[in-house]
Amino acid sequence: MSTKYIYLFSEGNGSMRELLGGKGANLAEMTSMGMPVPRGFTISTEACTQYYADDRTINPEIEGQIMEYIKKLEEITGKQFGSMTNPLLVSVRSGARASMPGMMDTILNLGLNDEVVEAFAKKTKNPRFAYDSYRRFIQMYSDVVMEVGKKYFEQLIDEMKEKRGVTQDTELTAKDLKELAEMFKAEYRTKLGEEFPQDPKEQLMGAVKAVFRSWDNPRAIYYRRMNDIPSSWGTAVNVQEMVFGNMGDTSGTGVAFTRNPATGEKKLFGEFLMNAQGEDVVAGVRTPQTIDQLKDVMPEVYDQFVDICHKLEYHYRDMQDMEFTIENKKLFMLQTRNGKRTAAAALKIACDLVDEGMITEQEAVAMIDPKSLDALLHPTFPKEELERAKPIGQGLAASPGAAAGRIVFTADDVVTWVDKGEKVILVRLETSPEDIEGMHYARGILTVRGGMTSHAAVVARGMGTCCVSGCGAIKMDEANKKFELGGKVYKEGDWISLDGSTGNIYGERLHTAEAEISGEFGRIMAWADKFRALQVRTNADTPKDARQAVNFGAEGIGLCRTEHMFFDPDRISAIRQMIVSDTVEQREKALSKLEPMQQADFEAIYEAMKGRPVTIRLLDPPLHEFVPTDPADIEALAKEMNITVEHLTNVVHSLHEFNPMMGHRGCRLDVTFPEIARMQTSAIIKAALAVRSRRPAWQIEPEIMVPLVGEARELAYVKNVIDATAQKLIKEAGSDMHYKVGTMIEIPRAALTADDIAKEAEFFSFGTNDLTQMTFGFSRDDAGKFLASYYDNKIYESDPFSKLDQAGVGRLVEMACELGRKTRPDIKLGICGEQGGDPSTVEFCHNVGLTYVSCSPFRVPIARLAAAQANIKNPRK
Ligand code: ADP
Ligand code: MG
Ligand code: MG
Repeated sequence: MSTKYIYLFSEGNGSMRELLGGKGANLAEMTSMGMPVPRGFTISTEACTQYYADDRTINPEIEGQIMEYIKKLEEITGKQFGSMTNPLLVSVRSGARASMPGMMDTILNLGLNDEVVEAFAKKTKNPRFAYDSYRRFIQMYSDVVMEVGKKYFEQLIDEMKEKRGVTQDTELTAKDLKELAEMFKAEYRTKLGEEFPQDPKEQLMGAVKAVFRSWDNPRAIYYRRMNDIPSSWGTAVNVQEMVFGNMGDTSGTGVAFTRNPATGEKKLFGEFLMNAQGEDVVAGVRTPQTIDQLKDVMPEVYDQFVDICHKLEYHYRDMQDMEFTIENKKLFMLQTRNGKRTAAAALKIACDLVDEGMITEQEAVAMIDPKSLDALLHPTFPKEELERAKPIGQGLAASPGAAAGRIVFTADDVVTWVDKGEKVILVRLETSPEDIEGMHYARGILTVRGGMTSHAAVVARGMGTCCVSGCGAIKMDEANKKFELGGKVYKEGDWISLDGSTGNIYGERLHTAEAEISGEFGRIMAWADKFRALQVRTNADTPKDARQAVNFGAEGIGLCRTEHMFFDPDRISAIRQMIVSDTVEQREKALSKLEPMQQADFEAIYEAMKGRPVTIRLLDPPLHEFVPTDPADIEALAKEMNITVEHLTNVVHSLHEFNPMMGHRGCRLDVTFPEIARMQTSAIIKAALAVRSRRPAWQIEPEIMVPLVGEARELAYVKNVIDATAQKLIKEAGSDMHYKVGTMIEIPRAALTADDIAKEAEFFSFGTNDLTQMTFGFSRDDAGKFLASYYDNKIYESDPFSKLDQAGVGRLVEMACELGRKTRPDIKLGICGEQGGDPSTVEFCHNVGLTYVSCSPFRVPIARLAAAQANIKNPRK
């Protein structure tokens, strides 16, 4: 049997979204609810997929069905395409499964031609309206189907208005509009070298093709990538009988939400415009009236509309966003959908719907988009501040949040100024790994160079620090600590403010409001915690991050990296001495300087976490990151170590690596220099013992994690060092403290031999940054250069470093879970890569049975909500 590609609105319903798209499914649903919907049919998303399978053509079978349904629509409406007495005019509207801005614009009044427009003028006794409709159609068809560009037509309208000495479209007469239609057709001929199509069926096929084609335009592709919409879905096309809001003063058109989409307030919110068609309301042709005013203009229509709003909201049990048209005092519904809303409104509406008894707590949790919470977690500028202040420039909105502070130009200056109790903004040409600490303490980061994946942008997002990157308009003078922007010079110590959500830069101090989880946000999060099975931990290297994460609901630290602690100016020299040491004694001497500092760091973190579990990872990065390169640094170090500069330079050269990410790093450092593992274990255990003695109520059990393991014996070797050190210290202290030793699974070989590795490891934590890097064979830092081409050519649809690649990397994770449990049924499993805060990755982690996900502090609430949604969808027993 052949496929049914087309459905009348009366044949479909709201559950057929996949086939009919959102718009089509809801038009069918409203039809079946007996609401006044202009009649029509939907060409399915499968027809779109087929169009692409057939090399961007509409095959005869589908074309045949379209013609068949046109005939049906003619029968139902009693109108005909091209008729001189009762012409059928339709709109052609795209509608994907998920609402997608950036797709094709709608075409209205299709079916008009030179002859039909005359007949239409006579029939409606309204030539002005008829010609207005025709000129709109020519304009839309040329723009949308033939891609001529609206501007040429708008120019002609403006010229006409000027010639007639009027300012409003509505002041143009029937004669003017008729002339305009002729001019439009002439423009069409000039631009395209052919006549404007007169056959309604030809017009229709052109329009349908244009909708299918628009599924693949760059705006749509970009939108899909940002919103995880697969390109295989396709869009549906709706063909619908026209109703006319531009028939005179008893007609109009409008849009409305059942609740306020900005605040969530339960009150009808919307606008309408009399004597107007389609998009005039949003296009700002004239100033619309508020929906309340409809009560005075047409009381009966208003009452009927309010009644429909209630029915729709009750039916869909969610806030609705609707389009309507009034034709000669008769109301028609043209669209309804669950309305888009701000994150704040989403939380209020969900809570209100629960209180109104419309939905359950579970449904409330399920209806919030976890990613949208991001907007609520960073400090913001209050609205009044933004209305008052004027930006001096703009860069890329690289990391959300709002920040105000004094300008400083180096990472060291950040630390100095912050120590003095100042709030600062770090302004740099671009940032590099040495700036990490300064970046951490800065309120915001502004760079002249670099895009959305530059070092500054990536690191800032990870830290939850506001960042505006790539503001090329800045004339930077780093040497003299000043820059010029917007015609003004800014010096060190001057106040500026950054809005990381818009990229705006302000040359003054704006006031910010801190984010907190309270009110409706708190209620939703409490429900989420009730429904989830997966625990949520955080990646935190400092007590500040740890406290932030606990405020956001983190249940522990899944990854505490120790290397950032070494970049501190008084420590970097000790770590450098350790690296360039020739003998064990030299090395131990250097390490012994670091140990008390590390112990203090860990104590502070244990204090901040108040007894919650903390996983600390042993030193991981390639040695070369610490090696001095600056001749002055080398000289100072040589002096301090009492060796010659020449000798030190030779050592430095010998440490050079061709591929440091795959070089001397991770547990390889501990295999070559067991003193490192010894020192770090000692710092961890001593810190835990110290805090335990101060805080006996907290059941602190250190979790020591060995990075970059690829072989069980490698882990066993390091574990021996850890155990010997830890047990001795615990015994000496007369304590009964337990600790765990586990490993990162981040090398494919570790995943493949996880059963062996689990003999040594009490827990696994999937380090999906490295695991992705090593599985794909490209590094996160370099992938930016070519991934764009992979998206454009639809090889990859999303960045595997932000959203776990379930087909490949995910398979390794699943396999390692299974193998690990086989050896050690109670093994604790977690994930600590960047992807741990991504909702689709969280769902995956829930489904493969991980114990926890760990993510940056600002993503903790997102992960909590996503974990609840995963468990609601697929409950864990
Ligand atoms: P979008 O998805 O961009 O909102 P729509 O397909 O909903 O596009 O249509 C754009 C505008 O045209 C809306 O204001 C809609 O109400 C109006 N419109 C669409 N179809 C018709 C129709 N058959 N009769 C009257 N107005 C219509
Ligand atoms: Mg619409
Ligand atoms: Mg790693």
